[in-house]
Amino acid sequence: MYRENAWKNYSEQDLLNLEKTAKNYRHFLDNGKTERECTTITVDAAITHGYVDLKEVIKGGKKLQPGDKVYVNCMGKAVMLFHLGRNSLEKGLNIVGSHIDSPRIDIKQNPFYEDSGFAYADTHYYGGIKKYHWVARALALHGVVVKKDGPVLNIVIGEKEEDPVVSISDLLIHLSREQMGKKAGEVIGGDDLDIIVCGNPLAGEEKEPVKAALLKIMKDEYGVEEEDLVSAEIEAVPAGPSRDMGLDRSMILGYGHDDRVCAYASLEAIFNLTETPDYTCCCLMADKEEIGSVGATGMRAMYFENAVAELLNLTEEYSDLKLRHALANSRMLSCDVSAGFDPLFAGAFEKKNAAILGNGVCFNKFTGSGGKSGSNDANAEYIGKLRKIMDDNNVAWQTAELGRVDVGGGGTIAYVCALYGMEVIDSGVAVLSMHAPLEVINKADLYEAVKAYTAFMKDAE
Ligand code: MN
Ligand code: MN
Repeated sequence: MYRENAWKNYSEQDLLNLEKTAKNYRHFLDNGKTERECTTITVDAAITHGYVDLKEVIKGGKKLQPGDKVYVNCMGKAVMLFHLGRNSLEKGLNIVGSHIDSPRIDIKQNPFYEDSGFAYADTHYYGGIKKYHWVARALALHGVVVKKDGPVLNIVIGEKEEDPVVSISDLLIHLSREQMGKKAGEVIGGDDLDIIVCGNPLAGEEKEPVKAALLKIMKDEYGVEEEDLVSAEIEAVPAGPSRDMGLDRSMILGYGHDDRVCAYASLEAIFNLTETPDYTCCCLMADKEEIGSVGATGMRAMYFENAVAELLNLTEEYSDLKLRHALANSRMLSCDVSAGFDPLFAGAFEKKNAAILGNGVCFNKFTGSGGKSGSNDANAEYIGKLRKIMDDNNVAWQTAELGRVDVGGGGTIAYVCALYGMEVIDSGVAVLSMHAPLEVINKADLYEAVKAYTAFMKDAE
């Protein structure tokens, strides 16, 4: 089966649209470096596009009609948009679901200590990372600090040109004979990812003067006391914006393509629905995918099901049976990045079943590892229908597996939604250097993902 590079078939208009999508995506990516920031951007964009808060609709007590648009903000870390269709919810929804958490370094609750002229922040990494990637690079701090009496302080340090950044040190090569002989996974230990945050002692302070200087800056500049970090979520992420990559500007290098590229594509897709869709469409962005979809904002929580129950109640007479019908009759694209084929590591892939950057949006029948363990194995009948939708809408698409059978594996949110009995398949954008501080995507694949998700919302049934 031969799949062509998508760039070959673009008209002048396609190229203009592609660049516009890429530019808007980079804006989303650069301003959404945490799940909270992505949620805020998405809610703001939804309001601009005429979406209203489901909570307000419930409070108002008015029924919803086809064409109405509502959003649900889940604790500021996950978000769902619903565009109500002509058909009863019982006939199922067309859902495009992704995740907006990315691998990173989290600051611990009791983080600060001083050693040899440095003040450090102790950390606990989040998600699957190669720990040696995160040393000797500029990091920014993003997050919230919640004061005991309620106020929430938003923190972003290290993104503006004039901002300071922070960093984790690595051992100089001159003294690394022992380190260089270690296995890659042991070069940097999980507890060695401590971030240098200050280096100048506070004048007149005898005990831990550098830490004292840090605490003074935190208090004076940010209004934060050391004790407040107990109720804080601060993430260290690569500092700085994404960049066009390649002399031809065909790619984007940036932090967090996994999975904000799919989240962004699904957002643009639902905003592309200019008419009332046949089936209610949902753009869902989950949190905690990188650590197993756990917690109240992860996909395994009930927020999606609860929202559909509320929508049923606001469109017709609610019943438990109708809710089960709505969930089981739904169709879903579990949108998450695919492992892009990397010629420099060709041995990790089986090329004719690998995602090639530039060949369009990927469909992964299954993920998982080994003998498909932990996978959601999509139904052939469903894939048949999707092939028609993609071809009818002129979408460049390809199928992919996550590397060679025995070399590793991974999962997505697909298996969680499949529990309802709905049709689900993984679909996404191919990424190079997945989970590294800077990942690579091809702009054509982003553009095709937007086309694919728009077509799916419009035409899936
Ligand atoms: Mn992912
Ligand atoms: Mn991931």
